[in-house]
Amino acid sequence: MRSSILIIKFLFLGGRLDIIGFLSYIVCLMFKEDNNNQTFEGLGINPAMLTRITKMGFVKPTPIQLKAIPVATAGEDLVGIAQTGSGKTLAFSVPTIQAVVLKKKKGLILLPTRELAVQVQETLNSIAGAYGLRTVLLIGGTSMGPQIRNLKKDPHIVVATPGRLIDHVDQKNLSLSNVGVLVLDEADRMLDMGFAPQLKKILTFVPEDRQTMLFSATMPDRIVDIAHQYMREPLRIEVSRPGTTVDKIDQEIFIVPREEKMDLLSKLLKEYKGSVLIFSRTKHGAKRIAHKIREMGYTADELHSNRSQPQRQKALRGFSNGLFRIMVATDIAARGIDVDHLELVINFDLPTQTEDYTHRIGRTGRAGRSGKAISFAVPEQKGDIAQIQKLISMILKVKSPCGKELDSIKNSAVNCKSFTVQKSNKGRRPNVSGKKSRSRYRR
Ligand code: AMP
Repeated sequence: MRSSILIIKFLFLGGRLDIIGFLSYIVCLMFKEDNNNQTFEGLGINPAMLTRITKMGFVKPTPIQLKAIPVATAGEDLVGIAQTGSGKTLAFSVPTIQAVVLKKKKGLILLPTRELAVQVQETLNSIAGAYGLRTVLLIGGTSMGPQIRNLKKDPHIVVATPGRLIDHVDQKNLSLSNVGVLVLDEADRMLDMGFAPQLKKILTFVPEDRQTMLFSATMPDRIVDIAHQYMREPLRIEVSRPGTTVDKIDQEIFIVPREEKMDLLSKLLKEYKGSVLIFSRTKHGAKRIAHKIREMGYTADELHSNRSQPQRQKALRGFSNGLFRIMVATDIAARGIDVDHLELVINFDLPTQTEDYTHRIGRTGRAGRSGKAISFAVPEQKGDIAQIQKLISMILKVKSPCGKELDSIKNSAVNCKSFTVQKSNKGRRPNVSGKKSRSRYRR
């Protein structure tokens, strides 16, 4: 895992590679990697902040924190490629707060979803308060009034989703001319969600003389373009290959006919006793699944865009503090949920965008813990499974609805009834389609 950590100085437009500085930096990092006892000390964090981090219960930095914090506290631009759940929030919050205190300029943190923005503000507040810094949360789905009142208090750090931030700038509730640090978190997701025009607009509002940190789970060309155009020789910090999943998540896929999904879900909910996050492709699906689960006698809530922001917050809080054991969500939650000890993620439907698979299952196995992810695929979705396997560079365990492990996707059985009949047929693999078995699935 450690050997997969790469630090590459970007040679962007007109960028100059300071080879000696770069090599000594790599040597320094290699030394740090070999040191299993690396703490937060020596990363450029000031003593008061170190005390705060210890009080928060964090003893050792995660790999992205270990790599990003020294670069960011030195005031350099950086592009951080890190898995969801890797501890990115602290990795940018600590340097942002330090820079705001030092430069006496504002910090601006942009995120794709309201839920993520709420979580980031919470983390920031748990540190920033000690410095007397004020933060403001500017997200859609809630009324402008309280946000305007908070803006009048001249906050030091703004945490926002792009659309609402632009609303406030357009209404002159806020000026971005004094921003000294800009963080673009989950940048790939922001672009996927169609925020490119808003991002470009915001980037024209903030001064050129600023520090920019960009974090992304993947590194599509559009992100490289932003780094080229809007950042100053950023250091690229990669904690693992883009698109890879957290190592410790045990993943499997059930090939199951659509009409048997609910039965399989019921079976799994009896088997696993902890908190479960279920992803549905559509908001109507999420509502229906949550309803069925409640009928089964479990506590469950829903998180999708048909719910108001207060309802969404209430659902998240209820799930976090154990009021509900199960949350059913659309991809709105793929990157927005941070619940301690989430035991299981179930993809009731495979994600429409393959990359979302990583983000969804990254809700479990956070910050080095182990986790479990189970996906349901209908027999026609074998191509989607192949895409997922390509994304994560892994062959997934494939099972029939009865839990029997299958050798390959192409030869997979599709339902339990047929499987049971075939099982008694001298152990031959069922052939539900009636066609001849085809060759083994290859990536
Ligand atoms: P994030 O990727 O920032 O959403 O963080 C994922 C989870 O890791 C959160 O629950 C954090 O509280 C936790 N976390 C962040 N940094 C550390 C650390 N150094 N040690 C242990 N847990 C951490």
